[in-house]
Amino acid sequence: MSSVRLEGVVKKFRPQGFSLFSLPREKDSTMIHALDYLYLEIKDGETMGVIGPTGCGKTTLLKVIAGLERVDEGNVYFDNRNVNKLRPRDREIGMVFQNYALYPHMVSRENLAFPFRLRKWPEERINEKIEFTADTLGVGFRALLGRMPRTLSAGQKQRVALGRCIIRNPKVFLLDEPMSSLDAKLRAKTRTEIKNLLRKFGVTTVYVTHDQSEAVALSHRIAIMRRGKIEQVGSFDEVYNHPVNLFVAEFLGEPSMNLLNVVLKEEKGELFLVGFDSLRVKLPLKWNQTLKEKKLVGEELIFGIRPEHIERRKRTTPPSFFSFWAEVEDKEVSISKAYLSLRVGRHKLMAVTDPHFSPRIGEEIEFSLPVDEGKIFNRENGLAIIS
Ligand code: ATP
Repeated sequence: MSSVRLEGVVKKFRPQGFSLFSLPREKDSTMIHALDYLYLEIKDGETMGVIGPTGCGKTTLLKVIAGLERVDEGNVYFDNRNVNKLRPRDREIGMVFQNYALYPHMVSRENLAFPFRLRKWPEERINEKIEFTADTLGVGFRALLGRMPRTLSAGQKQRVALGRCIIRNPKVFLLDEPMSSLDAKLRAKTRTEIKNLLRKFGVTTVYVTHDQSEAVALSHRIAIMRRGKIEQVGSFDEVYNHPVNLFVAEFLGEPSMNLLNVVLKEEKGELFLVGFDSLRVKLPLKWNQTLKEKKLVGEELIFGIRPEHIERRKRTTPPSFFSFWAEVEDKEVSISKAYLSLRVGRHKLMAVTDPHFSPRIGEEIEFSLPVDEGKIFNRENGLAIIS
């Protein structure tokens, strides 16, 4: 096992149709900066989930760690050892990608044994390795060993691919959307399996996924990427409840955080966020110091509140909550939740509530939200002021 550290890593690609005769400065501006001075540290034995919009550089990040892509600038370290010049096969990496990449003409057992055969290991030792891996991968894995890849389901292929990775005792495990071709039920099952494996082996792992809930379930920490950079790294609680900027706040969560354009006003020493129409949110006293010190009174800001914090106002709702009347414009009810689209004057809000609360469309209802769960962002640069 090994810690992994990327320091100021840059990886550029030539776009299609790129002219080799361009001037150096033109060349750089037209290049795709897949990784753009990226910093990230993955601790020994840690599972780091990496999420971000499509094309933000997640796969390139894995390839750079694996040595499949060379960095243009910056350094990659395994346990403080610079591996920039180390060949992929010498990095002791285990990789599982979406498309499994099993050798199609070999039964699963041979897929597992292949790297050892190349190194001319004796049959006995190979068998021991396979037995150990089968024990680790648990019930049902042994039954797959004699089967050809074409006869396996997507989930079974995935297990064999994981087995082939684990058998080599990798120092670092790189997983790129390993469950994207599985159906929802199988994903949940495979997710638990992968989690158990990662915990059992304690291998340092980088796990790329589009599925935020998968990242949360499997990872110790999550890194959120945008345009070749890491925007924030932290536990799920840190990144979800304390986003450092608007991008992270909006990217995490489904539906995403409600964001309202407001102006900060002061009246008799108290601070309020004032929106269109009659929206006027009194702020908790504990925020006064920060907001006044930063001289934000009179400034245009953004107030963010998660949909799950908006609920129907009750008799027991504390006075510190902001209560407001809203028209229910639309609703979608699932087994465990109701998704409501609300209109408050010219503002639109999403609320996620109990499915038993099912108001009529067009109905005016009083809702409330805990103001101190809200976030405040700078409208110009998107940075969080209160988070
Ligand atoms: P997705 O979520 O869609 O898989 P990603 O976050 O993994 O995307 P990458 O595949 O790392 O993103 O790509 C990052 C950027 O680099 C994209 O703009 C992509 O088009 C570009 N890119 C990646 N590999 C190459 C390549 N070999 N040649 C040219 N451009 C590339």
